Amino acid sequence: MTFSIHGLAVARGIAIGRAVLVASSRVDVAHYFIEADQVEREIGRVRRGRDAVVEEILGLQQTIASLGPKDAPHELRALLDVHLMLLQDEEMVEGVKHWIRDRLYNAEWALTTQLETLARQFDEMENEYLRERKADLEQITEKVLRAMQGQLTTGLPLVASVVRKVPASGWQLDDADVPLVLIAHEISPSDMLQFKQGVFAGFVTDVGGKTSHTAIVARSMDIPAVVGARTASHLVRQDDWVIIDGDAGVVIVDPSPIILAEYNYKQRQVEVERSRLGRLLDTPAVTLDGQKVDLLANIEMPDDAAAAIKAGAVGVGLFRSEFLFMGRLGHLPDEEEQYQAYRRAVEGMAGLPVVIRTVDIGADKPMDSTFVEGKHLNPALGLRAIRWSLADPSMFLTQLRAILRAAAHGPVKMLIPMLAHLGEIRQTVALVEQARSELQREGQVYGPVVLGAMIEIPAAALTLKTFLRHFDYLSLGTNDLIQYTLAIDRADESVAHLYDPLHPAVLRLVADTIAECRAQGKEVSVCGEMAGDIAMTRLLLGLGLRSFSMHPAQILAVKQEVLRADTGRLAPWAQAVLAHEDPAAFLAG
Ligand code: PEP
Ligand code: MG
Repeated sequence: MTFSIHGLAVARGIAIGRAVLVASSRVDVAHYFIEADQVEREIGRVRRGRDAVVEEILGLQQTIASLGPKDAPHELRALLDVHLMLLQDEEMVEGVKHWIRDRLYNAEWALTTQLETLARQFDEMENEYLRERKADLEQITEKVLRAMQGQLTTGLPLVASVVRKVPASGWQLDDADVPLVLIAHEISPSDMLQFKQGVFAGFVTDVGGKTSHTAIVARSMDIPAVVGARTASHLVRQDDWVIIDGDAGVVIVDPSPIILAEYNYKQRQVEVERSRLGRLLDTPAVTLDGQKVDLLANIEMPDDAAAAIKAGAVGVGLFRSEFLFMGRLGHLPDEEEQYQAYRRAVEGMAGLPVVIRTVDIGADKPMDSTFVEGKHLNPALGLRAIRWSLADPSMFLTQLRAILRAAAHGPVKMLIPMLAHLGEIRQTVALVEQARSELQREGQVYGPVVLGAMIEIPAAALTLKTFLRHFDYLSLGTNDLIQYTLAIDRADESVAHLYDPLHPAVLRLVADTIAECRAQGKEVSVCGEMAGDIAMTRLLLGLGLRSFSMHPAQILAVKQEVLRADTGRLAPWAQAVLAHEDPAAFLAG
């Protein structure tokens, strides 16, 4: 039966495919694809895990048998019998093998997937006794998972969900050409990054806001995605046919042939629109009144530089370096590794400028699931970004040295996130100086670096003169600026309706930052999601912005807006928007 689930539209386009569910588990479980020649090994791992649990239960049964009926209640014996039976259940065993053999899931993923499949069958049972066996099934699966934890042979960490690229040997599906869409309760930003290899045609998560980092990475992949879909991972079943409408934020499950035909048509329209925009690739981004506008790319990994070039970016306006630090289980990249990564990005941009932001770990970008930061009460207000860097100066110096060394290979700008205090500014500038003089003393090659600050805390936007005394340029991180101005957790779907880029207070801070930079002849850019939102392009141009940094897939759509704009006419109009008590209504009217 067709039904739809509503969430937040975060990455545009239409995806149609079969659902792959990543079930949540009480045990941290890794999710990754294996190679075809590893199938038997994975099946063996499950078997050994299961045998260990069977042995434990048999041992318990023996102990119980040696006790009198008073000390060993009948219920306990019956329960152990049920557990043994479930462990040997044909459907469980064969199901797990199916996910490993046919889908090339690793053992843990296969086990939790089969648990999910069977649990739903139990949920639907009329018989209450049988329905309650679901809890037993969950218990024994958890036991098997724990038993398997000691016998990982891949060397992969057993933390969070790690989905690796599709195996070189490919899928073993009968319907190998059917696109797959991923449905999960939650996907961490670093796990999302693993999907860049292009296994999935779309994503749906139960949680997350429009500018949560999971959503940002989905957008950068240019794959339809819906977040904040609340119950999606419970309502959708493995292999269900699903349509993801990334424009409307709707997920349609088990669509009827008529709906399917309608979305197939919409999908084709999206492609036509894309190829139409493709014609703008080599057109310079200049407004009708001759204003040149820089359209830059936001990237997460060095190799994304290629996509940036392909999309016509005139540089990288934000390299989120923290993605190099995630999922490392505390083993942070050393100077050489970081240097090589930054250098790859710089060389990849072939002489175009690259803005490398120093690490912005924390809040909804934890390093990994063991990261203590995540345990704080208010992580978005806690030790994140520059605060984290300044709390560990030697780690920060390692990054600064690596960036300075990479600057020998092309134009580099350094960008510091989340600054608010003069003290932080002074410490940062001093550490950059220290890194430079260390390299100088050691005779290491390094290059010139322009130093910039992000304006993403209202306190920073209200003390611009201080910032402009210490920095060469500013970049507006509107995602966080909105979050901190309106006190809205950007990753929390329950308050997503209050996350408003057009709130007059937000617009005031954005407008003042642009105006102050222009008055002082300093560069200013927007690198938050606002820069890639075509509904905001004219307003930002009218406020004087000439540098926009966004995920590459959005560049041509924004360019189209730029080509149609006349900044002479937009400037007074933008002031009227700014003065209005309800800018959204004014824009719509
Ligand atoms: C921002 O806050 O707008 C920004 C660009 O940084 P991030 O989204 O990585 O926090
Ligand atoms: Mg930010």
